[in-house]
Amino acid sequence: MRKLAFLAFIILASMTRAQVMEAIVKGEKASFIAKKNFKSKRSGQAYDIVYQKLKLNIDPNPAFRNIYGSVYSELVALEDEFSLFAFDLDSRMTVDSVVYSDSSISFIHANDEVLIDVPSQAQGSKIDVEVFYKGDPSQNEQKGFSYDYQLAGPIAWSLSQPYGAYGWWPCKQQLEDKIDSIDLEITIPKNNKAASLGLLHRVDTLADSSLVFHWKHRYPVATYLVAVAVSNYYEESHYIHLSDGDSVFHLDYIYPSYKSQADILRWEIDGMMRGFDSLFGHYPFREEKYGHAMFARGGGMEHQTMSFMGSLDFDLMAHELGHQWFGDKITCKNWQDLWLNEGWATYTNALARELVKDDSTFLAFISNALSDVLDEDDGSVFAYDTSIVRSLFSGRLRYYKGSLVLHQLRWEVGDDAFFEGTRNYMANAEYCYGFAETIDFQEAIEEASGKDLDGFFDRYIYKEGFPIVLSNWNRVTNKRIKLDISQETSHPSVSFFPLKIEYQALGEGRDTFFVVDLSDSEQEFDIDLGFKVTELRYDPRMWLLARGNIFEKSHSDLSNINVFPNPSGQSISLLVQEKKIDSIELLDLQGRVIQSMKVTELKSGQTNVDLSGLANGIYLLRAYSGNETLVSKFMKRGQ
Ligand SMILES: [Zn+2]
Repeated sequence: MRKLAFLAFIILASMTRAQVMEAIVKGEKASFIAKKNFKSKRSGQAYDIVYQKLKLNIDPNPAFRNIYGSVYSELVALEDEFSLFAFDLDSRMTVDSVVYSDSSISFIHANDEVLIDVPSQAQGSKIDVEVFYKGDPSQNEQKGFSYDYQLAGPIAWSLSQPYGAYGWWPCKQQLEDKIDSIDLEITIPKNNKAASLGLLHRVDTLADSSLVFHWKHRYPVATYLVAVAVSNYYEESHYIHLSDGDSVFHLDYIYPSYKSQADILRWEIDGMMRGFDSLFGHYPFREEKYGHAMFARGGGMEHQTMSFMGSLDFDLMAHELGHQWFGDKITCKNWQDLWLNEGWATYTNALARELVKDDSTFLAFISNALSDVLDEDDGSVFAYDTSIVRSLFSGRLRYYKGSLVLHQLRWEVGDDAFFEGTRNYMANAEYCYGFAETIDFQEAIEEASGKDLDGFFDRYIYKEGFPIVLSNWNRVTNKRIKLDISQETSHPSVSFFPLKIEYQALGEGRDTFFVVDLSDSEQEFDIDLGFKVTELRYDPRMWLLARGNIFEKSHSDLSNINVFPNPSGQSISLLVQEKKIDSIELLDLQGRVIQSMKVTELKSGQTNVDLSGLANGIYLLRAYSGNETLVSKFMKRGQ
């Protein structure tokens, strides 16, 4: 078992599509219905969680699998006559006592809740309680806490997202109330380190040589982003100098066996941090730190100020750093809006390549994302069903499609409005260091761009599919071209996507970019480019989340071929005059060849192509004559 798990980890760590691995790995956490998500209201009365202090003893040795200690909580009553409230905690854990006002009070631990009874208080009263508990947190079916081995020793770590926090600590598991401030005091065996949130205040050595790591975090944090990892880490730290003269403390807890790799890779974080800090607004936790702690699974997890990492490659580091803004500073308000975390973090990965590396590595990322998303016809970015963790964390929809929607939105509104709107979103007092939903982000971009984006968000976030664009072009004179564009959609939930399409025209040693606005599913454009165009490229910078194909029609040479009738029925005919046709192909609008046939010595006359096996729809007929091709579009209608 152990060997197998370690081998799987090596394979995962070596994959380059780190963000998708994150999706897959998170998805693998649980493929069952996650009941915790559906608890609209825990038992007891409503309260605001203000502060928590976790005092836990953790031995990373998988042979022990037992944590014990307490969680001290301060909360504010949100109801009058407040006396009964609950924390979420797996029923498999054992609660020894609950202390209120220096004495043990009554509680009920059942149905994964600890229901606590305190003397009645007025609304607005502050209450503090401490829950003493113990147990094996790795039994929880949501896998919020795990044990394993790395090459140099045992490791224990938590990963609560999305529904696993209640498996290892008494908490308020939800996405509506951040813990305003948190401390973690983790007692561990000697020669280990405990990684967690915020700043390491001090390390105490106890009489039995155990160590106590005191972590203090003074920023609001969502419950699922609270984490701890314990192993015999090797530690490295340095300051990242930002462009405004300030700096961020950077701390790495890495496996001893990764030291040489980490020495090289950790410097890449500096460029990313500087880039994101100027692009999205200040690194959200500047007063404390940013860091990596390695853990024994593929992918990563954006725990606040300390991402847990299965490996230390550029893409994964960029993705998890991006999450500190998108996911941590602003957390999705519902898991349905998960794309605000994951689509954004995936796009920050692309942006890190653009900022730190170059344009071609950036475009390679976009191209890879496109081929993944366009591989299937359906699926929305918005997660309507959040019950199955594997599909909630769909790499294709939440990560890649979410990131491509952002890329196209950037194209639609322009760089200035896109990044200014994003910075305003990040700084909005209503939800920064809190929770936001899709409409909040939409409104920020609408305000910065002055554009109504209802239609855009409706089609790309809430509905399914994408446009399929066919561009047919030919030269009409030496300076002008005719561009005939048609669009279908991959999914019936959207009948048409208005598009701003960029083309690149090349010829006579020149090239130029131009944009056409497609507002109808069939449109023709007559364009004067001022030079003889010999090549036309569709969307060369890959702005569009669309399947696109471009065909060069006969300019004048093959014009003596007629394709008829159109629309056609059972067959279509090709009438050729004084031209030798070598072969004919039938294609669908996505450019896939349905049928191809050789033609022997057809110089003049008519040839018929049988269409009886074809469904009704729009098709292309492509004829080859030497180096020339003719493409003709026709519609098959009726049987
Ligand atoms: Zn992520």
